[in-house]
Amino acid sequence: MRILVLEDSRSNQVLIKARLEKSGHQVEVVGNGHQGFVLATSNIYDIVLSDIGMPHWDGFKFIEAMQVVCPQLPIVIISSSCEDDDVCRRLLGYGNVIDFLPKPFDFERLYEILARIRVQTHDSMNKMARIVCTIGPACATSDILGRMILAGMDVARLNFSHGSYEQHAATLSAIRAAEERWGKPIAVLQDLCGPKIRTGVMDGGAVSLRAGSMVVIQAAPCLGSGERFSTILPEIIPDLKNGDPILLDDGLLELRVVREGTDEVTCEVVAGGLLGSNKGMNLPASKLSLPSITEKDWRDLDWALDHSVDYVALSFVRSAEDIQAIKEHIRAAGKRDLRVVAKIEKPEAVNHIREIIEVSDAIMIARGDLGVELPAARVPRIQQEIIRLCWEHNTPVITATQMLDSMTGHSRPTRAEVTDVSMAIKEGTDAVMLSQETATGVDPVNVVRTMASIICEEERYSSLTVEQYQQLIHDSTAHPALTAVASLNGNTATLLLDPAGRLYPQLSKWNRKVPSLLVTRSLHVARHASLYKNITSLIIREDLDTEAMIDKAMRLAMEWGYVKSGDILAVVEGERNTEGGLDQIGLLQLIRVPGD
Ligand code: PEP
Repeated sequence: MRILVLEDSRSNQVLIKARLEKSGHQVEVVGNGHQGFVLATSNIYDIVLSDIGMPHWDGFKFIEAMQVVCPQLPIVIISSSCEDDDVCRRLLGYGNVIDFLPKPFDFERLYEILARIRVQTHDSMNKMARIVCTIGPACATSDILGRMILAGMDVARLNFSHGSYEQHAATLSAIRAAEERWGKPIAVLQDLCGPKIRTGVMDGGAVSLRAGSMVVIQAAPCLGSGERFSTILPEIIPDLKNGDPILLDDGLLELRVVREGTDEVTCEVVAGGLLGSNKGMNLPASKLSLPSITEKDWRDLDWALDHSVDYVALSFVRSAEDIQAIKEHIRAAGKRDLRVVAKIEKPEAVNHIREIIEVSDAIMIARGDLGVELPAARVPRIQQEIIRLCWEHNTPVITATQMLDSMTGHSRPTRAEVTDVSMAIKEGTDAVMLSQETATGVDPVNVVRTMASIICEEERYSSLTVEQYQQLIHDSTAHPALTAVASLNGNTATLLLDPAGRLYPQLSKWNRKVPSLLVTRSLHVARHASLYKNITSLIIREDLDTEAMIDKAMRLAMEWGYVKSGDILAVVEGERNTEGGLDQIGLLQLIRVPGD
């Protein structure tokens, strides 16, 4: 049986390990709750024996976290506190705690418990790709957000198509509280709605449009009917030309303009159905004079500049200039490093993808609108090509929309959804996104856990393609130490000393075998880095020389459970002038982790 023991007393560690190994079990021992959590979620164990009073995540915090990520893994408590009724009552509330043993405990009792345990079949949950979760009414409390963080959320998306500033501020502070509680930096991504065109209000909430009939869209607001309705952006009316298609409600309904005009247009209903109030209108063939960034977007962006937001995503980007305009505004505000994500959902953006990738900090393949603006059948190839280009340029890419859509209402995904997530990981996406699945779904934590398990399974098979291998050779001139560490075997983790936060994107690109630990002074750097594949930040604020910094980081990595005594740790640094006056291009050191 594979047993994980969490026990901070050295003498108890030795005793328990020796007795259990003598009985033929495989035993791993750690000294605190977080070390236990990292090990339990990245390896397979059949049972965990855990103390309660431990440093750096006590037994309760460990049990709570395990209940989210691996609820099926049984935990037996071994503690002197087991004699305390209050402690026992509290422990009984956790479904994953199956028994208690007071210390000094009776090994015969423990063997009886072990005899009842079934061998585990779950896989590791130690994923490299990132999960972006849209936050909405189903998950906006710090308790649920905390559980989503444990299950694998790395980036929280605030969708500015909905909600007031007060609601977004409350959600943001709940995210920050959860982030602090679980000690994992979370990037917050503000999604600006851009010039999203919608229908006006319909009589009774929805009206029926019959295929073959005529319907008028007018500039002036009106209560919509089957014959006539309005739009929230009346300035589009003169841009609609005869023959232009109009797709309504994510393309479920389709119209075609038959009489253009400045105040209203007449359309034939090509595909009919029920049309609700405020439904999306996509105009894939019309040349729109609407600005790419609306007044509301500028106001929302100013809000982000005043709050602890890390990334801002712009919807319906048409050209690289749209991204540059947002960046210029951020620069002029002079406040801080707010990074910009281009949402690719317009044919114009697909046509200008290289220039857009060039100027953006990240890309989102917004497949919902993309599959309406272009034939949906083209989306898979476009996705694959954008992921490839982003990888080449080392720009993180998020694959978004309907990834586990059926889990909005159900506890299991469809097989097709599992394959979709798996394919995106195989193609090399840095992140996958959940929309209504987490924002309004029945069980947001379960969705994140499911997404993480699909990622883990696919990542077991990832390897470099010939094309990627050629790029590794090419990149090794600019980043010799970073590319060298990626080809290393035998190290348990890679530690990157990167005070300015400039090198981790390159390490994320290449180091995909073992955890990459980014040593940084800045929480902002750590939050930005959480969109990058396989980067875990260790925040060390002290001003230390290199040797002392490595020592401190190594001890922190041990305390958090990323390495243990005897492991080999690869330490990487970039360019600098050393104290001895050497012109260092890069440095790769291999260190044996000492005993604690
Ligand atoms: C999309 O269209 O896929 C998307 C992510 O945008 P939104 O959710 O803002 O409509």
